[in-house]
Amino acid sequence: MRELAPYLKLYKKHWFSLSLGMFLAFATLVTSIGLLTLSGWFLSAAAVAGLTIARETFNYMLPGGGVRGFAMARTAGRWGERVVSHDATFKLLADLRIFFFKKLTPLIPGRLSKLRDADLLNRLVADVDAMDHVYLRLVSPIIVGIFGIASLTVFIAWFDLTIGLTLGAILLTLLLLWPIIFYKLGKYNGEMLTQNKAKLRIATLDWVQGHSELVLFGAEPKYRKAISTHQSSLIQNQFKNAHYTGLASALLLLANGWSLVLIIWMAADGVNGQPPGPMVAMMAFATMASFELLMPIAGAFQYLGQTLESARRLNEVLSATPDVVFAESGTEASQSYDIQLSNVNYRYHDSNNDALKSVSVNLNAGQKLAIVGQTGSGKSTLLQLLTRQFDVTSGELLLGGSSIKQWTEKGLRQSISVVSQRVDILNGTLKDNLQLAKPDASDEEMKHILEEVGLSHLNESIGLDAWLGDGGRQLSGGEKRRIGIARAVLHNAPIMLLDEPTEGLDKQTESQIMQLLNKHTIDKTVVFVTHRLVGLEKMDMICLMEQGEIVEQGNHNELLAQNGLYHRLHQRL
Ligand code: ADP
Ligand code: MG
Repeated sequence: MRELAPYLKLYKKHWFSLSLGMFLAFATLVTSIGLLTLSGWFLSAAAVAGLTIARETFNYMLPGGGVRGFAMARTAGRWGERVVSHDATFKLLADLRIFFFKKLTPLIPGRLSKLRDADLLNRLVADVDAMDHVYLRLVSPIIVGIFGIASLTVFIAWFDLTIGLTLGAILLTLLLLWPIIFYKLGKYNGEMLTQNKAKLRIATLDWVQGHSELVLFGAEPKYRKAISTHQSSLIQNQFKNAHYTGLASALLLLANGWSLVLIIWMAADGVNGQPPGPMVAMMAFATMASFELLMPIAGAFQYLGQTLESARRLNEVLSATPDVVFAESGTEASQSYDIQLSNVNYRYHDSNNDALKSVSVNLNAGQKLAIVGQTGSGKSTLLQLLTRQFDVTSGELLLGGSSIKQWTEKGLRQSISVVSQRVDILNGTLKDNLQLAKPDASDEEMKHILEEVGLSHLNESIGLDAWLGDGGRQLSGGEKRRIGIARAVLHNAPIMLLDEPTEGLDKQTESQIMQLLNKHTIDKTVVFVTHRLVGLEKMDMICLMEQGEIVEQGNHNELLAQNGLYHRLHQRL
């Protein structure tokens, strides 16, 4: 149950509507039991009165009015209760989603990037949704149930102490017993249901995302079969769930019947020592109606296992500590944007080797550094350290004279523009995709940049309003990369990081892009990552990397003069 603590805390903010919801549920319960109890008494009392002399004096109006009143109040109460408690629950879920999302964002990219997208989605949607059971199915019915039993016991005991206490004891026992029995019965199945739901989603998303690939390689039936398997398990779980719900209600009805027999037997000789009369009917109807307060609890507790499992899955994310925590207040900007790395080591947490080994580089503001090396030599890792995707394992990384850890996230993001190796195109218009780098960019500015990066054809027809991404215009690898460059140019920060911006482009485009980048980075500090030894003559410094180490360092001419690896690579061109 401890799993639920973080969610119960969120209740504080909505305590008023949550309590009002429970109050209305209680009021509805009272009117509903009252209606049946009063009707029972009224019908028999009226019948008895009709047979006797009392028919002249019997007051038909008042109880009749009472029955009407209860009936109307019950309808209004139920309506009010549904509106208030569902409204509160939805607000609660909205809060919970935001709360969860806030905790989630700093965890990416980090250890959690290991979690599958589909799994995260499932946590964010289905597991959060499962939390609405906590109030609607567990907390509210239990509290309302306890108050209901107490009031009913007092009411009946006022007429007959023994009957009141007996009925109260039966109801209380059932209220305690049902949750325990059905929690235990449904626990395993509920946990499995939550897990199978997640598995089904993951399998389905795999199938959808990789569909064309799967078809091409003839692997589609196998993946489709995986979906069917998970689906059958889920249906199996749901079947059991329905089975338990039925069992809980049936057993409760049975208990209701036997209690009715018992109470009628106790009341048959007359209530509270009186001769038998309409009160007997009242007791019988009260007993029948009293089970209404147990009904919501009957099937609810088999869902507890499911809810707890969802809570556990959410807590896994909530309790994870982010790999990188940005300073709340600290460096926002700097006079001069130089970059210093001294003895930087970095190891991915699931790896046995250092991806970077004692890397030391000093780059003055406005200088251009090229990092050259084969695939896998650690170039992208180095850039990711500069944008603080993760922190150095050991060593020191200074940006503009202060440790990167002293920078605020906003300050750091405003100081660095990046063209990453893999440019993501978001689902949205071309304009959205550019404005994420500069929200106040004007249409003219964006069109101009598109021309510059050689995407003038995107300016044609609907231009910036063209939809990109899912269900929109698909872009080629080269076009995506140019969008990435356009974003970086728009962002216009004093430091520019480029991760193989010309990879996969033809020679002519490559030289166009290089010219463009040179033009836009004249006064910027630049780190340019490449595995091609092209256009490096203009660089102030070149670092040649191999397996995480800088093996040669200097400018183009110095490195050629060294007659080492750089020289050899250059000759091979
Ligand atoms: P480059 O950009 O030079 O091609 P990377 O910096 O991407 O190389 O990778 C350097 C090394 O770190 C490689 O051996 C790669 O397998 C490893 N690596 C990269 N990303 C991760 C990661 N997220 N987890 C574990 N190892 C990684
Ligand atoms: Mg790379």
